[in-house]
Amino acid sequence: MTAINTKIKLKKGDVLKHTFFKVRPGEGAVEFARRYFPINVEYHDALEIAAAVIDGHFEGVDDPKVRRCAHCGYYYRDKTKNNSSVTCSKECGTGKDIVLKAWRREVRKVGKVRRLSWLDLHYASSYQGKPLEYPFWSSDWHMFEYDRKRKVYSFGDDFEQYVAQQKRKAEMGGKRKTAEQIDYDGYNVPRNIHVKIGGHVGYGKVTVIKKGHGEVEADLLARYGPKKLQQERIRAQMAALGGYKI
Ligand SMILES: [Zn+2]
Repeated sequence: MTAINTKIKLKKGDVLKHTFFKVRPGEGAVEFARRYFPINVEYHDALEIAAAVIDGHFEGVDDPKVRRCAHCGYYYRDKTKNNSSVTCSKECGTGKDIVLKAWRREVRKVGKVRRLSWLDLHYASSYQGKPLEYPFWSSDWHMFEYDRKRKVYSFGDDFEQYVAQQKRKAEMGGKRKTAEQIDYDGYNVPRNIHVKIGGHVGYGKVTVIKKGHGEVEADLLARYGPKKLQQERIRAQMAALGGYKI
């Protein structure tokens, strides 16, 4: 087996096309560009200046220490003593390394034989490159073994018990609930329950209070406070959209 040489040395001014102008300009690039913008510059002037700085139409572009950052692709001025940096900032340096590492991994992967998986060996999901309409396992045992290893169910090979468990889960909303013990105090006939509405307590006439939108708003605000009220509104919206159940 021959080792593939994946060493790569970026020359000064080289840029990685994967990230070139696709990432935010690094710290060094921003610091460099800043010197070309006068204080209180007008918006449209700023746009022109930015375009010129990006394209390299600026005074000082011939400076041997001025070059494009290998990662973000914007101009910066090298601050190292030996004039050897290829990126404008530490962040861009890290970003560049990540891209190169990914590239190396890809190169090394080419031609390597992957170990066959359980699915490759026992599950027919395609034939001659086309996906099968009815994929199938080579045997029941292989199918159960696949699920068992992945803890899809925890009842060994007792399939019926597993199905029963799933059914119970679905019916009970996913959790096993203990039976509710209601302590009857000797009365098992229906009794009237009096609900407190708008300050009305007890028997008799029910007062209906009509409130305008503004009053209701003020009332809610006073009761919950601005933060809690907003949170509750978002929760209600989510619930209305089916995001989750209250
Ligand atoms: Zn950069």
